[in-house]
Amino acid sequence: MTAHETDKYVYDFAEGNKDLKDLLGGKGANLAEMTNLGLPVPPGFTITTGACQAYLATGREPDGLAGQIEAHLEALERAMGRRLGDPQDPLLVSVRSGARFSMPGMMETVLNVGLNDRSVVGLSDQAGKNDRFAWDSYRRLIQMFGKTVCEVPGEEFEHALDEAKRAKGTHDDLDLDADDLRGLVETYKKIFAKHTGREFPQEPREQLDLAIRAVFESWNAERAILYRRQERIPADLGTAVNVVAMVFGNLGPDSGTGVAFTRDPGSGAQGIYGDYLANAQGEDVVAGIRNTVPLQELERLDKTSYDQLLDIMARLEGHYQDLCDIEFTIERGKLWMLQTRVGKRTAAAAFVIAGQLVDEGLIDLDEALHRVNGAQLAQLMFPRFQLDHEFEAVAQGIGASPGAASGAVVFTSARAVELAAEGKSVILVRRETNPDDLNGMIAAQGILTSRGGKTSHAAVVARGMGKTCVSGADGIEVNVPAKRFTVGGHTVSEGDVVSIDGTTGKVYLGEVPVTPSEVVQYFEGTLDPERTDDALVRAVHRIMTHADARRRLAVRTNADTGADAARARRFGAEGIGLCRTEHMFLGDRRELVERLILAATDAERTDALAALLPLQRQDFVEIFREMAGLPVTVRLIDPPLHEFLPPLEQLAVNVAVAQERGEDVAKEEALLAAVRRMHEENPMLGLRGVRLGLVIPGLFAMQVRAIAEAAVAVTRDGGTACPEIMVPLVGAVQELETVRAEAEKIIAEVVGDSGVEVLIGTMIEVPRAALTAGQIAEAAQFFSFGTNDLTQMGWGFSRDDVEGAFFWRYLELGIFGISPFESIDRDGVGRLIRIAAEEGRAARPGLKLGVCGEHGGDPDSVHFFHEVGLDYVSCSPFRVPVARLEAGRAAIETTGSDSR
Ligand code: ADP
Ligand code: MG
Ligand code: MG
Repeated sequence: MTAHETDKYVYDFAEGNKDLKDLLGGKGANLAEMTNLGLPVPPGFTITTGACQAYLATGREPDGLAGQIEAHLEALERAMGRRLGDPQDPLLVSVRSGARFSMPGMMETVLNVGLNDRSVVGLSDQAGKNDRFAWDSYRRLIQMFGKTVCEVPGEEFEHALDEAKRAKGTHDDLDLDADDLRGLVETYKKIFAKHTGREFPQEPREQLDLAIRAVFESWNAERAILYRRQERIPADLGTAVNVVAMVFGNLGPDSGTGVAFTRDPGSGAQGIYGDYLANAQGEDVVAGIRNTVPLQELERLDKTSYDQLLDIMARLEGHYQDLCDIEFTIERGKLWMLQTRVGKRTAAAAFVIAGQLVDEGLIDLDEALHRVNGAQLAQLMFPRFQLDHEFEAVAQGIGASPGAASGAVVFTSARAVELAAEGKSVILVRRETNPDDLNGMIAAQGILTSRGGKTSHAAVVARGMGKTCVSGADGIEVNVPAKRFTVGGHTVSEGDVVSIDGTTGKVYLGEVPVTPSEVVQYFEGTLDPERTDDALVRAVHRIMTHADARRRLAVRTNADTGADAARARRFGAEGIGLCRTEHMFLGDRRELVERLILAATDAERTDALAALLPLQRQDFVEIFREMAGLPVTVRLIDPPLHEFLPPLEQLAVNVAVAQERGEDVAKEEALLAAVRRMHEENPMLGLRGVRLGLVIPGLFAMQVRAIAEAAVAVTRDGGTACPEIMVPLVGAVQELETVRAEAEKIIAEVVGDSGVEVLIGTMIEVPRAALTAGQIAEAAQFFSFGTNDLTQMGWGFSRDDVEGAFFWRYLELGIFGISPFESIDRDGVGRLIRIAAEEGRAARPGLKLGVCGEHGGDPDSVHFFHEVGLDYVSCSPFRVPVARLEAGRAAIETTGSDSR
């Protein structure tokens, strides 16, 4: 934006509207919208985010701002018939922050600006000689101004207020009379002077200017910066400042202030949800200074205002076509609207409300689909704590990795490993975790830290592992040497059980029982959406059905067994995008694999492979049956073969022990020698994938034969099988051609005239494959992007090593906003995918394209895969519904997902 365009820095409420959030911030845009709807909003004006940006860039108010403020202030004074801070009849204003995205509690507001030693008297006169009210307002100004504008520690004011109440022998601030409050003002002024080295400013316009400047600066307060980083809000937006004529809820029992939601933001249920506090100013409601009453009480206290409020709420909902949250104040029986916005809500409420609004004809199904997202759906699929009165949270941290976990508390990684080995479930509790805690984190059911946010080591690693984590629960005091932590008045020692909720960030003492999610029961098919009265399940069903109708991307699953495949099909998978064959070499088949590796002659190797063949065939038969004619992509063996042998140390010990006992050590020694021979410095970049197939004669051939024979067997039994053979780790077309030539011969021989068709394609997971996709497509009937390896090799780091070692630092520095293993790196790895998709399809029109990394179930990544034109995504069974939903959303949205 050029300076020229930002010349207008101040907008009257009548000049704005709800679509000007970038310029006026959310609060200002919505105040303007309400003003223009004719709702009772106190007059005022908004200083733009552009003015804030200019101020933050240069450290001073931009040219022209002061004059524009002056002009708007004069207009406001004319409208109100009062002048700011006039000793006889003062106009007071509030100075309120309000950015593009709401940042609750992050930024500042100052009420009652314009009061001083003289106008406090005028204010009392204005209110009909209400001294108590005037001095109450004045002490509030000094308190808020001191704290937010001059950084006076807030506790000092609170402490003084408590003192005054104690001296009066009361707990209720309403018992303080005018004299008490006048005394409190004196105390407050002393506190102010002590901390700032100056007297409390008496000049109204100076108060106003300092307050505006403080709101600008609050954008760069440390907590605001942290919050933005966590919520991924851009750092350069700045905040707008709203200057609003004061209305007074603290004028007596016929006045008050409150907040309300047009529906329950927790469950989505229809009805009125809110809190009201008589004889108070707005900040008291949040500060919890007195107990609020349910909004319904207002009907008894002031029926006219109550009815008017309900009326306005209904209008706002109709106008915004969504759940609204509002702030209001009643001044002597007159209702004033002070804020509205589309309200935040829980995941469950998001679905329920979207469904209701469709029923009410306010929005259509596309819009309903747009208003929910995969992250919310994923949240609803975790088991939940079944909370009743017995359980009260003892600490509140950050929900860093979702889930519900209970277990015995441990304080060291080593102890976590020990207890887990005994079959106990444990919660690892640390101040913060570091790479040394990795084993303990793997062993634990959940992780609880007292420091650190959503991007701390604990949070990043836990999310990578899919483990429940609560971070930054700063109410708990961890004492590792003493093996205990304290929280509130409780002491929790090693072995005591706690429960942590990785979604809400709450910590409970004892074992909270867990209930399965209704939404999962619905996906599993055990809860009929037509029969249940569960509003959430009905809404999810409806929106999922619409997503399925809208989406262009197919959704497959990653499944290695018949059981996984069956579950994924219930979750809506339309095929298997990745069937790994590694597990088919484990368990009681290890013996055969060892024979294969140790084979000294062709005959020995052929023997071992021949013994593996029927076992593999049977595995495939089960999977093909389960998938009943849906495509099944089978990946030929991928990991280095030494992964199937015992670790070096263990073999060395075995040999030594056997020697000691005088037993025959020939086989042990041979294995040891093989492990030594096969040792690799960088196994991730070593002899694996297609390279194995090219080096070990007969290995891929056996697998191809097992696949083809299984497909034929299923077909002969009257079923259908659609196998797709996928060659891993290809970097050059020649590799694929070699494997393919051999495979085609075997397939032709096995399939004969059975009608079975077997496709041969490749993974694209080596950067070189992406860059030579045009050549590779000549030999491939499909591509499947292996985004895990493509990310590892694209960035040149191995996931297991880096997530624990330095990702937290990269996130902290903003080198990436989210781990590239969680969400596809569009600019780099994504570019490789784009190139491969375009050049692959150019060489072979209609080339089938899919993705089979965990990214296939990540909301943002699904949108990217849609944009790039893939045919399907494949993800773990549990993520299948998330991918279906996001694929539907991607199809109705032209731009990326708006999951904020
Ligand atoms: P936040 O964004 O933290 O809610 P607000 O700017 O909305 O901060 O203001 C804090 C409190 O002061 C709210 O309860 C609000 O309703 C109240 N308030 C703000 N402006 C006025 C005003 N002009 N008259 C009366 N109360 C006000
Ligand atoms: Mg507010
Ligand atoms: Mg791979």
